[in-house]
Order: sequence, then C-alpha cells, then structure tokens
Amino acid sequence: MEVSDLPEKLLVCVDVAGPEVIPILKYLYKRKNVSEFLLSEKLDVDVHILRTVLYKLYNEGLISYKRKKDRIKGWYIHYWSLNMNRLDEVRMKKLKEQLEKLQERLDSEKTHIFYICPSFCSRFDFDGAIETEFKCPECGSLLKQQENEKTVVYLEKKIESILEELQKLENEKLDLNSNIENDNNLETKAA
Ligand SMILES: [Zn+2]
Repeated sequence: MEVSDLPEKLLVCVDVAGPEVIPILKYLYKRKNVSEFLLSEKLDVDVHILRTVLYKLYNEGLISYKRKKDRIKGWYIHYWSLNMNRLDEVRMKKLKEQLEKLQERLDSEKTHIFYICPSFCSRFDFDGAIETEFKCPECGSLLKQQENEKTVVYLEKKIESILEELQKLENEKLDLNSNIENDNNLETKAA
C-alpha cells in the first residue's frame, strides 16, 4: 500500500510510526471506536503486532482508545479512534521545525559565498575554502565558486509552500473553534 493513497492529514502518522501504519490508517480514517480484533481480522495482521504499531501512534497522542471488558471472554478489548485535532497539531509542529531549518539554510545561502568541488565531493564557505587552500580535500581539484541562485529560489519556494500549508491549518483550526463557540451559544440560548 502506498503513502500516496493516504489523505495528506494522515502523513504525519507515517513519520511517527513508519509505513506499516498505512493500512491501519486507511481503515481507521472516518471510522470511530474500531475494535482491535476487528482491525486485526480486516487487515489480516496479528493483534500483537497491530498493538505495537497502535501504541507508537498513541504515545504521540495521535490515536486514543476506549477499553471495554468482553463479558463472555472476560478480557479487555481496546476500541481505537484517530485524534483528528492532534493530527493537525503534530503536523503544524513538524512544519514549523522544517520551516526554521529552511530559513536558517536560506539565510546562510544569502549571506555566504560557497565553494564547491567540480566533482561535487566537497563544499565550503569562504573560511573553509581558505583552510583547504581552495582545493578539494577528497580529489585535489580546484574549488570553484558555487552559483547558489537556484538553491535560493528552491528554498524560497519551499518556505512559501510550508507557510501556505501552515496558514491553511491555522484557518481550519479557527473554523473549528468558531463552530464550537457557535454550538456553545446555542446551548446557552437553549438553557
Ligand atoms: Zn573533489
């Protein structure tokens, strides 16, 4: 099963728990309180293996469960649901981390001149290049100044798309909150 089959929202779960989580996500998405035994049967995965994966998501708060005792068998069954709000939170956290790194990289690209080996085995800023006397320590070739305009453009585009996605997530969060507020108002009025 491919990552591309998943709704974008769920990709953060794959970052957290690995690709083995994909079929589980596909089943849990848009379902609630799914019994782990049903899940195990539907996906044809041993329930113990399944739990290991589920707990990885649980530790990040991406999933939660209700526990019920099976009256006949006497053991507890976990019923699992994805935490959709938490999915967005974790996704936003990851995006912000990524954004910070890209911005640092962009600043460095804009304020430094880089020197690169023509065979691409090494790359230095100006001070580093002086230290190696402008020679590649791997192959001995003369380093040349790197044109980094393409890198700058690439980084700027990447940053822009992350900002857009963050904005989208922020807006969805606001919509969600205003809906909750409206519901509260209705309750107050009704009371
Ligand atoms: Zn080299």
